[in-house]
Amino acid sequence: MRLITHWIDGKSTEGDSTRRGPVFNPALGSQQAEVLLAESSDVDRAVQAAGRAFEDWSESSFSRRSQVLFAFRELLHARKRELAELITDEHGKVVSDAEGEVQRGLEVVEYACGIPSLLKGDYSDQVASNVDSFSFRQPLGVVAGITPFNFPAMVPMWMYPVAIAAGNCFILKPSERDPSAALFVAELWAEAGLPDAVFNVIQGDKVAVDGLLDHPGVAAVSFVGSTPIARYIHGRATANGKRVQALGGAKNHAIVLPDADPEYASTHLAAAAFGSAGERCMAISAAVTVGVAGDVLMEVLDHQSREVRVGSGRDPSSDMGPVITPQARDRIVSLIDSGEQQGGNVRVDGRGIKVPDYENGFFVGPTVIDHVSTDMDVYTNEIFGPVLSVVRAETVDDAIDVINANPYGNGTAIFTSDGGAARKFMRKVKVGMIGINVPVPVPMAYHSFGGWKDSLFGEHHIHGPDGVRFYTRGKVVTSRWPEIHHRASFDMPTAT
Ligand code: NAD
Repeated sequence: MRLITHWIDGKSTEGDSTRRGPVFNPALGSQQAEVLLAESSDVDRAVQAAGRAFEDWSESSFSRRSQVLFAFRELLHARKRELAELITDEHGKVVSDAEGEVQRGLEVVEYACGIPSLLKGDYSDQVASNVDSFSFRQPLGVVAGITPFNFPAMVPMWMYPVAIAAGNCFILKPSERDPSAALFVAELWAEAGLPDAVFNVIQGDKVAVDGLLDHPGVAAVSFVGSTPIARYIHGRATANGKRVQALGGAKNHAIVLPDADPEYASTHLAAAAFGSAGERCMAISAAVTVGVAGDVLMEVLDHQSREVRVGSGRDPSSDMGPVITPQARDRIVSLIDSGEQQGGNVRVDGRGIKVPDYENGFFVGPTVIDHVSTDMDVYTNEIFGPVLSVVRAETVDDAIDVINANPYGNGTAIFTSDGGAARKFMRKVKVGMIGINVPVPVPMAYHSFGGWKDSLFGEHHIHGPDGVRFYTRGKVVTSRWPEIHHRASFDMPTAT
């Protein structure tokens, strides 16, 4: 069985790890590899190596760092398809979708190539007689990224391009369910000329994570994953004095107004709910229809959801692949059961789907549950599967209230042709990322990505300008080069 190792100090290593976890091919429903699960001594080795590398990397010139980033960008671009297929085989998503995730990560690399501009400081001339003041930012040191299974390439790329460009050394702890993308990328970094130990990969579970959270050599932690773990990471790492950004789970709503084009809204809702089998933190999992929009939308949505082609991610005719594990499939199915038992109308039912030639795969078909109320389990839980709940509301204000009462606040969208309603929605809704006739409003790399409420713990959103701020800290210098000797004052310095 293939063994997936760590990457420490520029090479693949097994370290002290003896524990191993299974890595499945979700379409086939069988184990295809084993991944090492690190011990705290492995974490320590990576942190020590990264700490030594930081001394040189943080002193390297901007042009040197940009050169490495440009080379990395070229390699990633050239090998996008290969990486996408690796992701499909471990995650299950269709290859075109996996390529899309690599592309969105690549855009963060391109953003980070501009680090000389991004880290330009400010200068104030003559703040007092013969005194100038200027500010600039410096890297933090060794920083860690802990990432979820659903975007094994893109989510880590929300973090490390900016962190490394800013002069930090990075330790990635990817999901143990699809760990190969991290090693693929480590090899590309080495080929791009990144010095050893600036980028490291520690495979593992809670032992590895806790090792990073508690290690005094780790200055900052970026986390993306579910809300309970995000809360835990934020609490433990901040208690240990680290800077933390912890992005959590989601329950993303789309409001559909009666003036929206039903075909447009329905096509985009189906893609946003069922793309990547609903395993996206920006997937739409609840549609809130206003007034007569509900019945009109359901007619079209019913038909379009049945048209979604479910199959292996390697089959170019598939729209949607399997979910990640048998446990995930069983949990999704039991939530659909509960929706039915609690009074929802399962209009389109993805339970029990069989895909020819992939009978053991972890498949759940597209599911639409109408007349969902906000107290049902199917609404209160983040399902993270291809299930769209439809909640009926009377007015746009009622629909906004539904969203604002939900504990999550990652993404949301509105379908409408009324600019006034769209403006009210974007101003009133308590959510970090908003789409107007755009159902999956993932910000571009030069903006920052992040939710509100239980979808984000910490101050900073990820990548974009917030990413640069997160991975650096500021200094302000006040300087005088005296030509004559001034008498020093014992009073608070003021401008004269
Ligand atoms: P998860 O929280 O189970 O795991 C995320 C990471 O935490 C993994 O690396 C895992 O090994 C580690 N981990 C898991 N349990 C742990 C524990 N008890 N102690 C310490 N570490 C632990 O999430 P997942 O199932 O891999 O990913 C899906 C979740 O991620 C969903 O909730 C989804 O909404 C969320 N997500 C959020 C965003 C966002 O931008 N907000 C993006 C992608 C995914």
